[in-house]
Amino acid sequence: DKWVYNFGGGNADGDSSLKNLLGGKGANLAEMASLGLPVPPGFTITTEVCTLFYKNDRQYPDGLTQMVDEAVARIGELVDKQFGDTKNPLLVSVRSGARASMPGMMDTVLNLGLNDETVAGLAALAGDERFAYDSYRRFIQMYSDVVLGVDHYHFEEILDLYKEEHDYMLDTDMTASDWKTVIGQYKEVVQKERGEPFPQDVKAQLWGAIDAVFGSWRNERANTYRRLHNIPEEWGTAVNVQAMVFGNMGETSATGVAFTRDPSTGERAYYGEFLINAQGEDVVAGIRTPQPLTIFAKEKQGEDLPSMEEAMPETFKELVAVFEKLEKHYRDMQDIEFTIQEGTLWMLQTRTGKRTAKAALKIAVEMCADGLITEEEAVMRVEPGSLDQLLHPSLDPKAKRDVITKGLPASPGAAAGEVVFSSDEAERLAQDGKPVILVRVETSPEDIHGMHAAKGIVTARGGMTSHAAVVARGMGRPCVCGAGDVRIERDGSGFTAGGRSIAKGDWITIDGATGEVFAGEVKTIQPELSGDFRKIMEWADSHRRMAVRTNAETPLDAETARDFGAEGIGLCRTEHMFFEAERIVAVREMILAEDKAGRETALAKLLPMQRGDFKALFEVMAGLPVTVRLLDPPLHEFLPHSDAEIEEVAKASGLEPAALKARAHKLNEFNPMLGHRGCRLGITYPEIYEMQVRALMEAACEVAKETGEAIVPEIMIPLVADVKELSSLKARVDAVCKAVLAEKGQEMAYLVGTMIELPRAALTADRIAAEAEFFSFGTNDLTQTTFGLSRDDAGSFLPAYQKQGIWEQDPFVTLDQAGVGALIEIAAEKGRSARENLKLGICGEHGGDPDSIHFVEKVGLDYVSCSPYRVPIARLTAAQSAL
Ligand code: ADP
Ligand code: MG
Ligand code: MG
Repeated sequence: DKWVYNFGGGNADGDSSLKNLLGGKGANLAEMASLGLPVPPGFTITTEVCTLFYKNDRQYPDGLTQMVDEAVARIGELVDKQFGDTKNPLLVSVRSGARASMPGMMDTVLNLGLNDETVAGLAALAGDERFAYDSYRRFIQMYSDVVLGVDHYHFEEILDLYKEEHDYMLDTDMTASDWKTVIGQYKEVVQKERGEPFPQDVKAQLWGAIDAVFGSWRNERANTYRRLHNIPEEWGTAVNVQAMVFGNMGETSATGVAFTRDPSTGERAYYGEFLINAQGEDVVAGIRTPQPLTIFAKEKQGEDLPSMEEAMPETFKELVAVFEKLEKHYRDMQDIEFTIQEGTLWMLQTRTGKRTAKAALKIAVEMCADGLITEEEAVMRVEPGSLDQLLHPSLDPKAKRDVITKGLPASPGAAAGEVVFSSDEAERLAQDGKPVILVRVETSPEDIHGMHAAKGIVTARGGMTSHAAVVARGMGRPCVCGAGDVRIERDGSGFTAGGRSIAKGDWITIDGATGEVFAGEVKTIQPELSGDFRKIMEWADSHRRMAVRTNAETPLDAETARDFGAEGIGLCRTEHMFFEAERIVAVREMILAEDKAGRETALAKLLPMQRGDFKALFEVMAGLPVTVRLLDPPLHEFLPHSDAEIEEVAKASGLEPAALKARAHKLNEFNPMLGHRGCRLGITYPEIYEMQVRALMEAACEVAKETGEAIVPEIMIPLVADVKELSSLKARVDAVCKAVLAEKGQEMAYLVGTMIELPRAALTADRIAAEAEFFSFGTNDLTQTTFGLSRDDAGSFLPAYQKQGIWEQDPFVTLDQAGVGALIEIAAEKGRSARENLKLGICGEHGGDPDSIHFVEKVGLDYVSCSPYRVPIARLTAAQSAL
């Protein structure tokens, strides 16, 4: 078994295809080394070892120790140093790296291999005492925090106090002898907290760090991140051990991060930040203000610090050459970490860069135009779920704005909400349905749940690559970073900015595309499909097999959906048309009527209203298919609640309030979702469905006549369990249709079909298809009835199921393929065996969920139907499934 893979010195054992085994970081370090890029040599301990480690009660497999020893010796040979040597010590970093990048989740230790003796060797060798002791103090602090569990605030306190006593502003003001004193105090803290001295044995240091990386795979932060991003626990992390290079060796050294294109807009502009005389996390930690890479970015951001292009022109050129090489090689935008040691450039990481949806579209279109990727690849490059960001409102350019401050445009989109200052509070308020904006000095991995709960994030400190910015972009949350004049009150009662005071709970609005923060709630406008978005959608459409329809009952929703490219209505829920103020009384009158005659009087009042609704829909849809579902919910959902409402119905119907109340009481059910609803209403009160069908056909005839469009109404009967229900109702539907067409003297084709939303319907689909001309899978109810699980009541125990890993996903969000999916497959197959041209669609919530769409593509459904705002997501996903 091979558990250790070497890289560096011009070649590597692994490459980027071994991501599962080496983790993302290790695989790409190997790939870069093979490409001949300057990568400090090192090795990767595989994810397999992580899995074995947990399987065997935190024991490593036999033979690993020797493999690691040999690999360390190999690094030493390549850089001409020796691990633990007091004259010429090899220092390494120990870095975690999972298969999927988990920013900030895992802990990296730098400068490992330093102790009281090797530090002196390093100082002599570099001819720079300050550098050596600066490295040592960083190592003690990092190692103590990550490996020994001595919290970093102990060390920060010592350093802050020391700087204050000596009137120092910056860490760079500290001299070698200052660091020596501080190091002495650091070691005392470790002794006190741990009851033993800071480890001096370099091998013990190395294994301590390796243990810590593997151990961190199951720490709480990592668990949370994995849960939020659906990363399975079995994947494990790899450990990378790599020769150190030093960005903290003075003015010709630096460390930085870069993107080969702007991750926020997708612009073709190198993008990043660097810090001179600094190491590792200094750039993202916001210790000093980082400098931009390019003159272009510097001018765009109105920065006054010199860019790398100006400060280190030669190295900048080398870096640009690396960018070009990496983009060509990976054929995608890269996110890069680098260090410059005394003028020499070293690459420490590359990976596919996270980007906003806007950037993803632009980059895909431009790379395709450049011939770097094909049209199909461009379609595959955009993550459908991310389009959500572009389908949400932006600020209305005409709305009044009251700017209080401006920060960096870290993640686009507009959001408004109440100001909160803690992640726990953000989560609490969000659970109560309140929109909140999380305002922080800066964020850390402990804030993930709060950022997730918030509509938007504002930080006072940190740049475009700070934790807040990276995480917000990943989550698609609007974010403004580094709004420098935001001062949060110590007691958390509010903040001040631009001379204004904003109290906790006040509303603010942020625009993540401009970095502006506004007082109050600013009006927003709906997005539209244009430019790169439209182009990718066109490409997607040309590769898509399934049609995409929408669930809509209002003309406004139907219009929105058409603008987003919907090709019809897959579900028009007629009951939604019943709730409007003027008609609810007539609906109640109909429900509470004592007999058929009373019901018919009320239905006659409803008919013209319902006909008007359908006419409006047919007009918007202009000949596209429209599936109308006849009344579905239990009648008591429409019942009056207050005496005043009863009184209203009494007046309209001429019945006694007491009698109405008694009748309403009778309609009560113990288990209404399994009660008197769906086609059962049609069986018991056929006149309701007859009115709806009449309204529908009259509307279709009138619009067809007016517009000349061919309309084919699709009439859908819900909650069928038995073919006999359908045949009985279909006969009535046909009779009404025939009558209307005769009255109008028009001809019109129409379809009658059913929803498949009960297991019995799925299992007897062949019989049902003898009557039904189409099936639409109502997966909300089908999930409820397959699991015996009430969607409205699952909230009290579903989180426990997810936490315990019994169900990784909420079955109401992502289709349960094993159970509900199996029923869909059975129904599709049986249905088609009985009727070859049976039309099949899905209209539950799942119709807009990417995983579920992939599944129904495999089953071969003809269309998906989803809410208007998910139509573009469904179009793209359907294309990706088909490719
Ligand atoms: P993360 O996964 O959190 O980005 P990394 O393992 O990439 O953690 O390490 C963080 C930073 O530490 C790197 O960006 C780099 O600046 C620094 N670093 C890691 N290894 C080395 C090394 N061998 N030499 C110099 N700096 C390093
Ligand atoms: Mg990194
Ligand atoms: Mg249903």
